[in-house]
Amino acid sequence: MSIAENIKNIKNIIEDDINLIAVSKTKPFKDIEEAYNAGIRNFGENKVQELSSKMEICKHKDIRWHLIGHLQRNKVKYIVGKVYLIHSLDSVRLLNEIEKQYKSNGEIANVLIQINIGRDGNKTGLLIEDLDELISLCEKCDNVKVKGLMAIIPIGDEKQCRKYFKEMKTLFDKLKRNTFKNIEMKYLSMGMTGDYKIAIEEGSNMVRIGEGVFGKRNYNINKEED
Ligand SMILES: *Cc1c(COP(=O)(O)O)cnc(C)c1O
Repeated sequence: MSIAENIKNIKNIIEDDINLIAVSKTKPFKDIEEAYNAGIRNFGENKVQELSSKMEICKHKDIRWHLIGHLQRNKVKYIVGKVYLIHSLDSVRLLNEIEKQYKSNGEIANVLIQINIGRDGNKTGLLIEDLDELISLCEKCDNVKVKGLMAIIPIGDEKQCRKYFKEMKTLFDKLKRNTFKNIEMKYLSMGMTGDYKIAIEEGSNMVRIGEGVFGKRNYNINKEED
C-alpha cells in the first residue's frame, strides 16, 4: 500500500483528537513529502543528525518535528529552537543541559518526560522513583516546559501491553491532578505501529507510527552514528 493509503487507513481508525506522529527515521525525504501531501504535519525522528539534515532540505514551514529518540547531552545544542517537542527527557543531567542551551539562545524547550515503565535495563527512560526529583528541578527551570509523558513499553502480548499503558495513564492522571510550575499534562505519547490501537484504548493521545505509515524499515541502507 502507498504511504497516502496507509495514512488514510490510520486516520479512519483513530479519532481526530489523537495526535498522529509519522516516524520517518531511515526513510528518504521523498517519503516525508508524500506523507505531507497526504496531510501529515507531525514528523518524528530518533536521531539528531538525521533530523537536522532532513530539516535542512525541508521547505514546509508548518511541519512540527518531534525528537522521539534518546537525546545525548552533547547533541542538545544542535536542536535548540528547531523541534516542536522533545519526547525523551530522561535524566537530571539532560534537563540541565536543555535548560542551559535553550536559555543561552532565548528559546523555550517543550519536552515530555520519558518513563521506563517496564523497568527494562536496556532501555532509556526515567524510573518512576526518580520522577519526583526531576519534577522539582523542572519547576525551577526558566526555559523548559513539560507537556506530558512518553513511554516505549517492552515487547509483549496484549495483556502485558495493556498493563503498562494503564500504568502510564494512571501516572499521567495523577500528575494532572497536581499543580506544578512549568508542568502541564497535555500529551501522553505512547503506542507505535504494533500497539497503537491498544494504547489509545488505554488513554494515549499521541501515537508515534513508523512502519504503519512508511512501510518496513531497512536499517542496512541507512546506518549512522547516534
Ligand atoms: C521507531 C520508533 C517508533 C515507531 O516505531 P514503528 O514500530 O515503526 O511504528 C516510535 N517511537 C520511537 C521512540 C521510535 O524510535
